[in-house]
Amino acid sequence: MSLNAAEIVDYTDPETIATQRDYVLYSKQVHSYSPAIQKILDLINDYVPDAEAAFRAGAPAIWTGGYSWEPPFLYSLGITPVSYQEMGRYGFREDMLVAEDYYQFPVETCSMVKCAVGQWHKRLNTGTINRILGSASSCEPFNLAWEVLRKEGYDVFTNEVLYRGPSVNGERLEQLVQLMMENLLDIAEWLTGKREIDEAALRRELDRKNRLLVKFKRILELRLSHPFYMKTLAIILTLNVGLNNYFGKPEPFEAAIDELIEELEKRPINQEELKRVVPLVWAGGTGQEFGVYEAIDLAGGALLGLRGTPFKLVREDIPPLEALARYLYENGRAGAGVFTRDIIESEVERLKAKGIILYGYIGCSFASVDREMWRRYFHAKGHPCLNLEGTFQTGLPSGQVLTRIKAFVEMLLADR
Ligand code: SF4
Repeated sequence: MSLNAAEIVDYTDPETIATQRDYVLYSKQVHSYSPAIQKILDLINDYVPDAEAAFRAGAPAIWTGGYSWEPPFLYSLGITPVSYQEMGRYGFREDMLVAEDYYQFPVETCSMVKCAVGQWHKRLNTGTINRILGSASSCEPFNLAWEVLRKEGYDVFTNEVLYRGPSVNGERLEQLVQLMMENLLDIAEWLTGKREIDEAALRRELDRKNRLLVKFKRILELRLSHPFYMKTLAIILTLNVGLNNYFGKPEPFEAAIDELIEELEKRPINQEELKRVVPLVWAGGTGQEFGVYEAIDLAGGALLGLRGTPFKLVREDIPPLEALARYLYENGRAGAGVFTRDIIESEVERLKAKGIILYGYIGCSFASVDREMWRRYFHAKGHPCLNLEGTFQTGLPSGQVLTRIKAFVEMLLADR
């Protein structure tokens, strides 16, 4: 179901952009010079519909966060992880209303959760993926969502809270690692009926993960010399989503990444680009207001560092189950905001970034506290920060958000 030219949106008229899919189509048009990026954008676009079609044809798949430990583990069990956040981005205003009116979620609930709930509701009794693996440490609104969906008939499994507090080290950290390993066996039992894993298959998946992490580091290095070759929407979806779950298609994803590296390595450096680039670090999740990314591009910014930037490999010197559990805690993914702040800071220093964009969703109390802590911390160190709140709902971002981005990047440009 790859995109074809007839579907390309005429972006000269912003009115034609109505959905996140339109932005992906538009991005494909913008990257017409790069076969590799076009393939990646097709993978992005086809991820959820193709996984659901494959499921209907008999290929095992489950809904899951799909941004952390889940993909390598699930692939090793022969199950495709399908990210419910990616499904949620197909949500429309009506899906939010289903969450509010039918499931009685308070209006102020995070829009990401409401979009996902509305999308799951649409899929009830349609023969599509009916199992959800939820991570109990994700967030309270999602915990609530899984409870109501279980009552509607979904087969839902939520594991123990995996959170690592700022002072958790030594024996307490070892206990967390053990707990996570038990959790993984619980999940294997839920999915396969057996409380065991295929160590060789998990090792293969962890090797794939490490291989791709190395390749992404190479892409990030090359982007320093080619900051505008891969625009903001494409890089953020590739790195924040694709690197984690491979858009449900590990081999084609890796092949496209190899092709991208080749394209970047062959491309002559354009000194003009280097003179006008404003290096930025994105310290938020993958915002669904795709117009925000377009605004960054138009203003002359380039997201060269991201919160989820890969920096550590999965250990190869210990058994794979333990390696996966340790990776979760040692990579800043399952813990206090201070761990993530360290990643952001190392990116700011590595890139000599001019500014940091802190992005989160309205209604997320947990992330807004982190963002405010980071903003104060980085401001005190003299790094300009833009703290943005948006919604998960599809369509165009608000004019206010776009104006703030433009003003921020222009201020950084003027400061050079
Ligand atoms: S943005 Fe916050 S409230 Fe919304 S799903 Fe994520 S963690 Fe939960």
